[in-house]
Amino acid sequence: MSRLDSLWARTAPPGPDCPPLDGDTETETAIVGAGFTGLSAALRLAEHGVSCCVLEANEIGYGGSGRNVGLVNAGLWLPPDKIEAALGKEKGEQLVSALSEAPDRVFELIDRHGIECEATRNGTIHAAHSPAGRRELEKRCAAWSALGAPVELLDRDEAAKAIGTRAFHGGLLDRRAGTINPLGYARGLAHATARADGRNAGARIFAGTPVSGLSASGTGWVVETPRGRVRADKVLLATNAYGGGLGADAAYTPIHYFQIASRPLGEAGAEIIPGGQGVWDTAPVMTSARRDRAGRLILGSMGRLAGRLSERWADRAARRLFPGLGRLEWECAWHGRIALTRDHLPRLLTPAPGLWAVMGYNGRGIGPGTVLGRWMADAALGGEPPPLPVHEAGPDRLRPVRAAAFETAFRAWLTLKSI
Ligand SMILES: Cc1cc2nc3c(=O)[nH]c(=O)nc-3n(C[C@H](O)[C@H](O)[C@H](O)COP(=O)(O)OP(=O)(O)OC[C@H]3O[C@@H](n4cnc5c(N)ncnc54)[C@H](O)[C@@H]3O)c2cc1C
Repeated sequence: MSRLDSLWARTAPPGPDCPPLDGDTETETAIVGAGFTGLSAALRLAEHGVSCCVLEANEIGYGGSGRNVGLVNAGLWLPPDKIEAALGKEKGEQLVSALSEAPDRVFELIDRHGIECEATRNGTIHAAHSPAGRRELEKRCAAWSALGAPVELLDRDEAAKAIGTRAFHGGLLDRRAGTINPLGYARGLAHATARADGRNAGARIFAGTPVSGLSASGTGWVVETPRGRVRADKVLLATNAYGGGLGADAAYTPIHYFQIASRPLGEAGAEIIPGGQGVWDTAPVMTSARRDRAGRLILGSMGRLAGRLSERWADRAARRLFPGLGRLEWECAWHGRIALTRDHLPRLLTPAPGLWAVMGYNGRGIGPGTVLGRWMADAALGGEPPPLPVHEAGPDRLRPVRAAAFETAFRAWLTLKSI
């Protein structure tokens, strides 16, 4: 029985059986966290014949990987020109190019391993909530078009047809992107990672195994868990916004995003996002909308779930966007944690030899987690780490204050939009 109560946990095929670690063991690389980052790294290492084990406190995909909207987007939250401005031309180009192809990597893995995750590759649409939002999309379109990316501005009528609402002032269709059931993808990655065959040494995955401490020992590390220790040459922390107590949390501020799924719409929903794209808007407190394969409408926005208030928000949002649907019944609601960094770029942490972390995806982690996890595995094999800013600062005492301020602002917005 899954402890993860997202729609995806109700609809994704099960993952592999991963009993907790019981007893001491040794491995070349220990990976903490079984989301996209940790599993992608483990898969890459296993394919290189490196012994590797994944330690997961809860279950596969328990973090953001099993709770997100499922938009497999290219790039990061920041547009490519701003990434280059932040990282410099060479590193910026390297990162933008790798992450521009991130949806290719995700859909290749899905195809190669036959992962059942409702994969649909018809693009995603960033919708303009206002004329200013439309101008922002024009800039994003120009920046991506200059790099030859297959992006296209939709005018108001085209956006209305693609999304099924006249609420938006246009949109940016990115044909590289698509949608998935994200937990299905995480569970499928876990199957692929654990399956030893001629091309894969097979990683060991231990769920229900919280890592409570790490200590340097000789040239390697000892990883503490409740019922056993792991002695490893190298350790990768892949805990993103769900890491507690392992020293990597100061790199980001945790914020929340919630979603609510309707019952399947049936024929009444025929004109709502008929192409199956995922949609999110340019508003400062954004709204997302997508369908799943059963035809549910899934709406989302910033902040924690707030019981009846979130439902009232969803009623209002559905009426505003899709008035023809009438009153909807909501079947499932959940939220998850996002790791927000000040400059919206992920972070690399290298606190000691043989210990790394990569995190801070700012709500854009399906493609980046897949690509950067694999990149970290290549770094463990002797390659260059990804060209990300390195987090070196110590504890961040203002972090809880910032997190509370965001949450208060989101709750105020939710209340305002629910009246
Ligand atoms: C609601 C929501 C919507 C989002 N929408 C999108 C989207 O549409 N598209 C997109 O690209 N991205 C989206 N994201 C972001 C994306 O989900 C994340 O960036 C991504 O899942 C991060 O993957 P990860 O593997 O790095 O971390 P996670 O998936 O969070 O996994 C971290 C894991 O580490 C485990 N862990 C933590 N501490 C320990 C410990 N001490 N010992 C053992 N295990 C531990 C946790 O249990 C967890 O399973 C969204 C995120 C949220 C929350």
